Amino acid sequence: MRTLIIAIIGAASAALAAAQARPLPGPDLDEIYQRLLPQIEKIPMFDHHAHPGFADDPNVDAMAAPPGSSPVRTRDTNPELVMAAQALWGYPYNDLSAEHTQWLIQKKAEVRKQRGNQYFSDILDKLNIEQGVANRAMMADYLDPKRFVWVFFADSFMWPFDNQREASRNGDEQVYIPLQGKMLHRWMAQAGLSRLPPNFSDYLRFVSQTLEENQRKGAIAQKFEVAYFRTTRFSDPTRDQAEAIYQRFVGGGVPSEAEYRTFQDYIFRYLVREGGRLHLPVHIHSAVGIGDYFNLSESNILNLENVLRDPRYQTTTFVMIHGGYPYDRQSIWLAAVKNVYLDTSETELLLYPSEFKKLLKQWLETFPEKVTFGTDCFPYNEALGAEESYWLGVESSRTALAAALAEMISEKEVTEAQALVLAHGYLHDNAVGIYQGKVH
Ligand SMILES: [Zn+2]
Repeated sequence: MRTLIIAIIGAASAALAAAQARPLPGPDLDEIYQRLLPQIEKIPMFDHHAHPGFADDPNVDAMAAPPGSSPVRTRDTNPELVMAAQALWGYPYNDLSAEHTQWLIQKKAEVRKQRGNQYFSDILDKLNIEQGVANRAMMADYLDPKRFVWVFFADSFMWPFDNQREASRNGDEQVYIPLQGKMLHRWMAQAGLSRLPPNFSDYLRFVSQTLEENQRKGAIAQKFEVAYFRTTRFSDPTRDQAEAIYQRFVGGGVPSEAEYRTFQDYIFRYLVREGGRLHLPVHIHSAVGIGDYFNLSESNILNLENVLRDPRYQTTTFVMIHGGYPYDRQSIWLAAVKNVYLDTSETELLLYPSEFKKLLKQWLETFPEKVTFGTDCFPYNEALGAEESYWLGVESSRTALAAALAEMISEKEVTEAQALVLAHGYLHDNAVGIYQGKVH
């Protein structure tokens, strides 16, 4: 697909040779937008990052949201959610008052009972999503595997020791770190281990076998949300260094922060390498995150540049989930690396379409074949469930995409035919090309 896009753009730039790109759109902008939007709505999408599930399902995420501040658009006071409820459920009211919200909760419960494991497939059908990622701790039997492909969490392999010090750093880590311990124990149970292997080689074997087992169960990628738990600057320790730390703490004792980071840096790179060997792409949360203590500078996407541009990891495909926002102007340049992709999920929920359009336009003008669509749907609260966040993600992305492409056409950067190829790439083809034969 990438070569196809390049070929089409190449041919078209010849056709456009006489037209110098203009810095302002012309009077045809609105008309082009109106023409593009219905065509974009007809493109079946692949959702590259999402957390489908019900609010009462503990397996939606490998961590839990601590009480923290949400940006205004993701609060349950967002009036767009009324439109989501109307579009998805025929909601008969114009507000989300506590009383009216009861109608919605009841309606969803009824439909859930009637439709069983087709409930979330119906949501995909309503939004024209052909297939979507389910980034979840474990898959749910209420998600049809024909429509939902699993991406599991791989962070917990980095927290095998006594985590007292790690959890006591702040209120967020008090919530997150015990859940990493729980996740690791689930992987151990899956491998039939009642305790950690006493030697490091066996620990690494357990890690690899878990990746392989998850792949056998249908997982298409491994996901890291490590930015929530520590810095994303990874040093490059030797195996001997990591082994010495493992041997010292596998039986107990609290590692110093420096020791724990050294061990984790090795394990992270081991997982990245295994991702290449197993053709199991690596998804990394690379944007701002929720909670009061999320450290924006320690999680800056550029911290990962040494890993992404490391020739040892050329066979590993990286997907930078949420595209590094708010460092999006920098992150697009990381997509210059042939095995690095960006995903726009969450960003289209944090920003309104008028602002998200600018981000998307800049990306599509730089490395369009590396930009992929995702909703980051998540059961945030009763009014903004996974269902409504699917809707908001899809609507925001489509309108921002149509607006970005309309400007690019009107400013003589691309033809309308090329713009539609870019739309197909962003909404479907670019991501599907990563998982040849596993998704469609
Ligand atoms: Zn997510």
